[in-house]
This record gives sequence, structure tokens and C-alpha cells, in this order.
Amino acid sequence: MTVALDSQLRELVHAGRVVVLSGAGLSTESGIPDYRGPSGALRRHAPMTYQAFVGSEPARRRYWARSYLGWRQIAAARPNAGHRAVADLQAGGLIGGIITQNVDGLHQAAGAADVIELHGGLDLVVCLTCGLRDTRARMDERLRAANVDFVAHVATINPDGDADLSDDDLDGFVPVGCAYCTSDLIKPDVVFFGENVPRQRVDACYSLVEAAASLLVLGSSLTVMSGLRFVRRAAALGIPVAIVNLGPTRGDELASVKVEAPLGEVLSALAADYLPTSA
Ligand SMILES: [Zn+2]
Repeated sequence: MTVALDSQLRELVHAGRVVVLSGAGLSTESGIPDYRGPSGALRRHAPMTYQAFVGSEPARRRYWARSYLGWRQIAAARPNAGHRAVADLQAGGLIGGIITQNVDGLHQAAGAADVIELHGGLDLVVCLTCGLRDTRARMDERLRAANVDFVAHVATINPDGDADLSDDDLDGFVPVGCAYCTSDLIKPDVVFFGENVPRQRVDACYSLVEAAASLLVLGSSLTVMSGLRFVRRAAALGIPVAIVNLGPTRGDELASVKVEAPLGEVLSALAADYLPTSA
């Protein structure tokens, strides 16, 4: 399928040294909800802050209960045409770097290399007491073994598997401790609200952006400063910014090109146009 490509967007991308900054909108076509996008204004639960997570055992238990139930959806998600096109453009030599705000690992699953996960990744967990990093898959096995009764209970009150459960429903969940030190202060290796992105990681992103010929924002409304600052840096240096997103973004005034269209279509067309054999 071919869509009419914005000529400015095509020119920027095909000139190469493109740094990609991707957000939740790139993964919605993989079935991962974008809570901030046009269809996701309703967030059913306020996001857990780092302070609440660290400060309260019941908060951690509820977090892990919901996370345990939601993990099936994340683990089952597959990269979509947009992720594949970004990997194709990288293989074609056009990409100077990939920064993602997503924690789902779908860029890498599509074959992209050297992806900087700005907010970390859900595939790892970290013990805040001893620093041990472990895979989420291994933690999930332990959670599954500890929660046979909980899963059976949830299935009776929530047969369609939609994890919209009250706090009371979550009381039967049994958290597991760190495999090394048994501490229950285990967190997914992602940056929570109220927590800063590690400085080194931010600096690595700035370096990529400063060396870019253009910055291509994919599926992010740039609501939080952690992504918006790279758009501001690019604009301040006179590096053109292109935004492909459904809906307005906080970076629109700084962009040279803004395209509102489904990401899978636009990116597939960009890749196919440059690399006809990949179409
Ligand atoms: Zn530990």
C-alpha cells in the first residue's frame, strides 16, 4: 500500500542521519494502549509515583498485582509496520540513532539496534536494596508459582481478563522478594513518575541529537519534559524537527514538518520509497 508522502518529510528522512524519538503512539498499532493519545484520555488508575512505590508496601503490592495481570498483554505484543520500517530505515543507513520513550522493547523486537530506552525497559527488574537486576520473565515465573489462588480468584470476578480491578480485589496477591537478598523493594527497571532519567542516559541522547541532520518524532505528544527537551535542543541548534503523530504535541511550534497520519502507513511508505525491495 502506498500513501501520499509529505515531500518535506521524505526529503528529511532520505537525507539520512535521522535521529528517531519515539513514544507510545508508535506502539498503539501493536495493541499497547496510549493513555495520552486521542483515544486514551481516560487513564483508569493514576500512575504510580516513585515516592508512593518506595514508601508503601500496600502500594507496591497493588502495583505488582496490576502489573502481573497486565504483563500478558505486554509479553504478547508484537512489533508493527512502524517498528519494522524504522528498523529497515536503520538497516538502509538512514538512522543516526533511536531514542524511545517506550518500555515495551518493540523497536528491538523488530530488529533495530542500539536503541536508547529513555525510560528503561519492562524486560528487566531491579532490586532497590542490593541492586540485583533480573529478567522480568524469571520474576514472572516466580510470581506465577506464588499466585495460583489469586489468578483463580481474578478469573471468577473478571472473566474477560481486563485488569480493571479494585484495590480490594488485589488483596490476595502474593508479591515475591529479590532472588538474592529477599528485599521486597523490587521495581521494574523503568523510570517512574517522580523519578529522573539517569544523567548519563540523557547525555547520550543529547549527543545523538546534536550530531543529527534531523530529529524525527514518532507517536509522542511530548507531554513530559524528558522527551520535549530533545526537540528544544534540536530546534535551538537549527536541526530540523519532523513530527508524525495523531493529535497535537507540545513540540508542534518547533517543528519544520508535522504529519498527522497513522504511523505504520507513513513509515512503511518512507521505507518502501527509499528501499523498494523491502516493500
Ligand atoms: Zn536484592
